[in-house]
Amino acid sequence: MKTLCLIVVALTTLWQEFLHLLSYRSGKNPMPANVSDVYDAGRYAKWQAYNKDKNRLAMFSTGLSGLVMFFLLLFNAHAAVVPAGWNAYGQMIAVLVFQQLIDTAIGVAFDWYDTMKIEARYGFNRTKTGTFVRDQIINFCIGLILSVGLMAAFIALYRALGDWIVLLFAALLFALGLGISFLYPVLSRIRNKFTPLEEGELRARLTELMARHGYRVREIQVMDASKRSTKSNAYFTGFGRMKTIVLYDNLLSVMTTDEICAIFAHEMGHGLHKDTLKMQGMSLFSMAAMALLLWLTVRGEAPFRAFGFDGVNYGFALILMSAVELALLSPLFSLVTNAFTRRQEYRADRQAVREGCGEALISGLKKLYREDLGCLAPSRLTVLLSYSHPTLSDRISAIRGK
Ligand SMILES: [Zn+2]
Repeated sequence: MKTLCLIVVALTTLWQEFLHLLSYRSGKNPMPANVSDVYDAGRYAKWQAYNKDKNRLAMFSTGLSGLVMFFLLLFNAHAAVVPAGWNAYGQMIAVLVFQQLIDTAIGVAFDWYDTMKIEARYGFNRTKTGTFVRDQIINFCIGLILSVGLMAAFIALYRALGDWIVLLFAALLFALGLGISFLYPVLSRIRNKFTPLEEGELRARLTELMARHGYRVREIQVMDASKRSTKSNAYFTGFGRMKTIVLYDNLLSVMTTDEICAIFAHEMGHGLHKDTLKMQGMSLFSMAAMALLLWLTVRGEAPFRAFGFDGVNYGFALILMSAVELALLSPLFSLVTNAFTRRQEYRADRQAVREGCGEALISGLKKLYREDLGCLAPSRLTVLLSYSHPTLSDRISAIRGK
């Protein structure tokens, strides 16, 4: 049992390293003709260096996390931190705090290097030390509260209801996911400042575009994303037909009004095809799978005894599930979901074409890639395995109908 788990940890780590290596080498792939004007020679060289730096760091961080997990499991480290005589809740919390501290220690170091060294070297980073520290503390607390809270609910439900736990816990996870997306606008206010977009052509055109398809715009807001990074984005939130549009301030300084409208026509394409709803359906499915796995994991004491525990430890069950079971299943799952989301992207692009802004979308996307040093020629295998969006070249071909 233990040997099997260790083999899975080693294999899934190697698999991820393989994916990083593939994208590390994508700098050598030939550039498709329809995106050859995105980078000039200087910018292209910069992209190649950036791509190497990012993937090299990813290889280090994946390798180290995998290695640490491997040795923690090998030496039964999780069982060693549990004080004798604690009840199931206390034992669960001890294991999860221990794991979270280790994850955070590794994560903070690599995040720091990524944000302050690599992103800064290429001129993207605007995050100040204070913001970085504050973000990390918030992430640590949220992560711990979520995992401990979930497992406490799991123990209580399991004891009260027995095997019905699978259905109930899946529903609970899903409700939590929904709650987070409801709360997302509120939560993002903790991290960022929002100001209404000033009256003018852009505001009028975005409102008109949405109104043509029956959406009412409650508010168009500009988010101070430039506080952290120069990278840009846009999205809309809100339920039903009332929408709030959020634009990153970076977007406004780089894109023309036509390009921003085109990007919004694309976003609206997602809305019209109920893509968010479909993704939620998919996440309900994965929540159910997770509940099932967790339930299967805690049904016998054997896996826990193999790692030095006296009996079931619910915190360790969560770790086994994510480091072994999910790690094994997720490549397959992401193969399917990525194929699905890539189709959604093409369809959303077609909405922009229908609104008459296909070319504006192309020039907007090219700017995004140029500004953010995006990868223009990933290998086919990388796209198949891990791209949620089609490549820029494929999107341009589809938009132009070639
Ligand atoms: Zn999209």
